Order: sequence, then C-alpha cells, then structure tokens
Amino acid sequence: MRLVVISNRLPVTVEGGENEVSFRQSTGGLVQGLSASLDSLKDYTKEAEYVWVGWPGTNIKEELQEKVRKDLQKNFRALPIFIDENEMTGFYLGFCNSTIWPLFHMIPSFATYSDKYFEDYVNVNKKFADTVSNILRDDDIVWIHDYHLMLLPQFLREKKDVPIGFFLHIPFPPFEIYRLLPKQWRASILKGVLGSDVIGFHTYTYMQNFIRTCEKTLGIESEFGKFKVDNRIISVGVFPISIDFEKYNRATENKSVKQEFENLKNTFKNEKVILSIDRLDYTKGVVNRLHAYEQFLEKNPGWHRKVCLVMILVPSRIGVYKYQETKNDIDQLVGSINGKFGAIDWTPIIYQFKNLPFESLTALYAKGDIILVTPIIDGMNLVSKEYIASHRDLNGVLILSECAGSAEELKKAIIVSPNDISEVADAIKRALEMTIEEKKSINKSLQDYLSKYDVKWWAGSFINKLMESHKEKIELEKKKDVNEIKSDMIKDYSMAQKRLFLLDYDGTLVNFSPKPELAKPPSNLVKILERLSKNTKNDVVILTGRDRETIGGWFRNPDIQIFAEHGAYLRQKGEKWIRMLPVENGWKEEIAHIIKIYESRVPASFTEMKDFSVVFHFRNAPEEVVQQEIPELYDVLKTLTSNTGIVVRKINKGIEVKSAMADKSIASLYFLREPYDFIFAAGDDSIDEGIFKNLPKRDVYSIKVGDGFTYANYRAKNPEEISLALKELSSIEYPKKPFWRRLVEIIKR
Ligand code: UDP
Repeated sequence: MRLVVISNRLPVTVEGGENEVSFRQSTGGLVQGLSASLDSLKDYTKEAEYVWVGWPGTNIKEELQEKVRKDLQKNFRALPIFIDENEMTGFYLGFCNSTIWPLFHMIPSFATYSDKYFEDYVNVNKKFADTVSNILRDDDIVWIHDYHLMLLPQFLREKKDVPIGFFLHIPFPPFEIYRLLPKQWRASILKGVLGSDVIGFHTYTYMQNFIRTCEKTLGIESEFGKFKVDNRIISVGVFPISIDFEKYNRATENKSVKQEFENLKNTFKNEKVILSIDRLDYTKGVVNRLHAYEQFLEKNPGWHRKVCLVMILVPSRIGVYKYQETKNDIDQLVGSINGKFGAIDWTPIIYQFKNLPFESLTALYAKGDIILVTPIIDGMNLVSKEYIASHRDLNGVLILSECAGSAEELKKAIIVSPNDISEVADAIKRALEMTIEEKKSINKSLQDYLSKYDVKWWAGSFINKLMESHKEKIELEKKKDVNEIKSDMIKDYSMAQKRLFLLDYDGTLVNFSPKPELAKPPSNLVKILERLSKNTKNDVVILTGRDRETIGGWFRNPDIQIFAEHGAYLRQKGEKWIRMLPVENGWKEEIAHIIKIYESRVPASFTEMKDFSVVFHFRNAPEEVVQQEIPELYDVLKTLTSNTGIVVRKINKGIEVKSAMADKSIASLYFLREPYDFIFAAGDDSIDEGIFKNLPKRDVYSIKVGDGFTYANYRAKNPEEISLALKELSSIEYPKKPFWRRLVEIIKR
C-alpha cells in the first residue's frame, strides 16, 4: 500500500534560474505538520511508502520541467504539477484566496466572485486529477488536503475507485455564509468534497457547519457523522492537526539554536520579550493586537523600557490586494507606536517582515516570555502549539484568541476575545505578573496534552479512519444476494424449532405507490404470510409505520402479528390491538400547524395524521418546489423539536415527525427477548437498520432491500425477491399435496 498525499503546494519550493533550479522547504502550517507525520506512516504503509503531489511553487520553464520532475521524484518523493502562470493566478490568488479564503474565514465583505476564477479552479482541479490518475495504483490510498482541491475527490473518484480522504485545514463556515457562493459553485464544491470516503475537520463546529450545509444545499441526510450518497458511505470526523512535539521540545539541544538563544538573552537583558509571529494575513488580528499593545503601554508606564514586542510577519499572498492593504496598515501602526513611545535607547516594537529558519524561530519561541496569538479567526494555529512545546523551562505565557481552532484544545492558556482591545491589553499585564508556579502548572498540563496528541497522532488517526471505512466498504460490497444463500436458509429453517420473521411493509413487502393507500398487498403475499404464521413454530411480525386500521385491514388473519405506527400499537397472535405507549400527543397540533403552512406552498402535497406521528407527503409535487421548500421545512422542524422526545426524519418523498418512543427497533426487542433458532428480518430504509443492529451477528437472515449501506447480512434487489424467499419457506412444512392424495382424502371423509 502506498500513500498518495496531494496538496496545492509541494513541501519543497523550486526556485528557477535561467538554466538551473534550486530547492528549499516551503512554509505554512500544512507543510510543517504533514512533513513531520509522513515518516511515522511506517505503521500504516510498508517502509513509509508515499508520494507527495503538488505545485512546485513557481512557474517552471518548459525546458526545465523534465529535470525538475526527475529531481523531485529522486530526492523528495514528490510529483510536480506544472500550472500555467495565468491559470495559477486565477486559481490561487483568485478563487482560492480572494473567494474561498475570506468566505470560509467568515469575512464575506472581502470575498470576490468571478466566473473566470471559478473556471480556473475547476481546470486546475481537473489537471490534478489527470496527473494523479496516471500514477495511481490499485493499492494506493489518497489523502487530499485543503480548500484548493475541493473538487478533486470527485474528479478522482470518477477515474479510479481507491480510498480517498480529504482534510480541510481552514474553518468551514455556517450555511448562511456558505450560500453566498453562486448556486452552481456551492453544489459543485460540496459534491466534490463528498467524492471522498473520509472528510476531516479541525473542530466540531466546522464539522457541524459542513453537515448542515450539505443537508441544506444538497438535501442529503447524515446519521452519526455519516452520509450515504450514491451507494457510498462518507464519514465526517474531527482530527485536530498538531505539531512534531519532540522536534520543538528538544530544539534548544541543537547547537545553533542554543547559540541564537544565548544571543537573544544578551540582546534582551533588561526587557521581557512579547512575541507576535504570523504569516501576513488579515485573519491573524495583527492590527488589533498592535492596538492592544499600544493600550497596554498607555495604561502601564511602569513597564516602559522593560518590555519589547518582537513581531515577525512572514510574507504571504502579496499578489492579493487585501494582503497589501493589511501590510500597509501594520507598517503604519508599528511606526506610529514606536514613534509615540520609543526613545533613543528603547524600541517598543522590533518588526521583521521575513521568513525565519527553524533555528531562529525556535530560539525566539524559547526566549519569548509571552506570545500573543490573537487571530480574528484561524482554522487551527500551529504557532500557539509550537510555542508551548519549545518552552522547555515551562516559563512562558500563551495569550490565545478564543477564535483560533487551537483554543478548543489549549483551554488553560489565557483566552481572550481578539476584538476586545482592553481585554488583550489587560491579559499582557496579567501574563507579565503571573507567578512562576502558575506558569509551570499551566505549561506542564499543556505540554502533556501536546506530547500525547501530536502530529503523528493526527495523521495516524485520520489514516486509520480511512482504512477502517475502506474495510467497511469492502464488507458492504461482499454482501450476498438472498438468492445465493437460499439453500442454506431453507436447511436452517427446516431444522429450527422456533422461528421469527420481522418484516417491514412499504418498500420491503410491496413497492411504493404514488398514493400510500394504493400500496395494498397482493393477495398471494397475504396468503404466503398466512401460511407462514399458521405454522405454530413461527412468529410472523410486520413492523410498519402505517396506522393500525389500514395495515390490520389488509392482513385480517389474526395469526399475523403486527406492530403499527412504528411500535405504538401491537396486535399479537389471536388478540386485539393494544396500545404500547402512553398518550402524550400535545405536540401533534403544533407540528401540523407548521406543516400546513408548507402544504399551502407545495402543490399536490398532503398531511397524514396518525395517533403518534404526523407525515407530510409530497411525492406528486413538482421537483423544483420540493427542492425549494422541503429543506427549509425539514430544518424548521428539526430545530423546533431538538431537545424533545420528537423525531423528524426524511422518508421516501415525505417527512415524518413522530414520538421517539414509537420506534421499530425498540419494538423489535419485544420479540427478541425470546430465544429463536431461526430469524428472518427484512427492511429497506434507515429505520430498519436499527432492527438489524439489534439482531445477533451470526446465523441470522437479515436482508436489506435495495442498494446502500446496511447492517444486514444479505441483500435483495426488490420486494419480489423477498416474497419469493418467503413463499419458498412457507411451502416447506406445507408441501402442496398432489391432486390424487387430496381426492383420496375427500373420498375417505
Ligand atoms: N513559520 C515558518 N517561518 C516563520 C514563521 C512561522 O515556517 O518565519 C511556520 C510556523 O512554524 C508554523 C507555520 O509557519 O508551523 C504557521 O502555521 P499556522 O497554523 O500558525 O498558520 P498558517 O500559516 O497555516 O495560517
């Protein structure tokens, strides 16, 4: 097995001269994190076999491309994707960083929308798919990274069916912000991402936003973080990225880091060092941070000449206007603060606009008495984690914005609102005055956490999940059709002394009809069930959401047992209907009132009122109206019923609202208390899966009708296959007597 890692940028940047090229490590959280984790993949792939696919960082002349390709393959296990400069501008500076980046960081006023940018985004994603599919082997697993490549999972899936994981390194916004994207783009991007088998986010908030956005945009439903789309199961999960803890924690053991650290100690003999280290980005909150530092100096003249803000700003996306603007704002503000408070012998802010090598960065981390990490919003923020890990003496203070993803993990830091200037200014003072004991206790627990949940854990848990879901998929595809196992089933049935049949009705025993009342059982089906239930060794139970009058009217024979309204009513062998649930239906009128509003908007829709549920049917409504109105109604009902005992679910061309206690899988337990040596259970939709889960794992004939994920052991293509299987079982102990035997019997009488 080989891991194919795909990201926009390769971990190495190629710098091109006229006739030669050189290579240097790329910057940024993703590159740092992933590079560190790849070596640890030995546990998952033989000899940590991997290839990294991405753009080499510069436009390489055509004559040099072959050489670059060979060098990268030989020395860096990398496969470059060369992209034409014009297309790269529209893709990277355009759609990625002028549309998706501001929108996903929830600053919609900074987003631009251009058809040309989106076209370039589609084309570059296609180019990645073409290049990758040419090298893909059957046993590869693919891990795609970040917002640059959200269409790629689907494009790749169309070319080769290998396990595909996708990880989003930036926030995923709430639906209300996501929908600011034009309609077609918004659906394409979600469908693109859903081409994966596993989708990972840094935090639960981003994951919830994604799930809700998919439900509202595409009308698909999730269950326990899983979507079922086109017969595939897609898992959505939370995997907070982290750092190579050991590397940062031991950095000061390195000779050159030690030397730089000593130099810094000499430089800042009399001053406490406050760090500010970020890539240039308006999301990082640098301007607010500077205002907070300014306010701190204003309020605390006693600290003048005793502190210095060392601010490193790493150049980034200079081609995007908003970045130039942010840089100008920062430059001006630094100048103004230094002018206002500085003196010949004291500079309040030392500011560098450059990329630091690892040695200088970790020496700074180790020296910094305080670090200010105050982004307005940040997917994760690795700088906060690197600082804690590098401060081996446990003597630093992290002031962290509540809007950084890492704040969900590093809760013991001083947590601030990045927009509350006074709070940040006061936090600086508090940090400066914190006792060594308090600092040690906080940092010890943060370091313990980070050493356990490091980048290896992150990559390992994601890949584990991907492998798991792949195994699940193979299991799913292996499930046999009921026709293939009939002889075993007949043998087991014949030998059994006590048998149970748990049968769903609509979609399982009969096909769906345009109107619910038309889905009557054919007379031969009624006869088959009568025959089966007449056998004293058999318990035949229909479990349905239908009301008891309808289903009881269709199956009048009292030997057939029925749970109606999802288990709210039971008709046991030879007995009358009994109610299984207490009455508590005050909610029904309220729900019906809301549904009626939508009934008036959706032509040909109607509402069915049952004792324990309300069902809104729209099977004959025009598709465009359904698409417009139903997601909204579904969302409203879900919101209103959350934290109540009411469940809202999508059914075939309908929405059902019911008491949570009326539940088929709970009802099935009523019979499953008894020991049976033969069980036949059939169902077609997600609610029947609850019954399959209740059954013993082995020696059970659980059958899912139709495609899609299932916990059942076998499959049937349609209700006809179920009827046929039941018919064959029903004739085992009641073989049809030949005509002459029946004639003899009549004569004898
Ligand atoms: N970094 C770097 N050079 C520098 C300063 C920082 O390579 O001069 C690295 C830093 O070590 C961290 C990454 O850049 O790993 C920044 O990651 P973060 O998640 O904090 O922010 P991002 O840049 O991904 O938004």
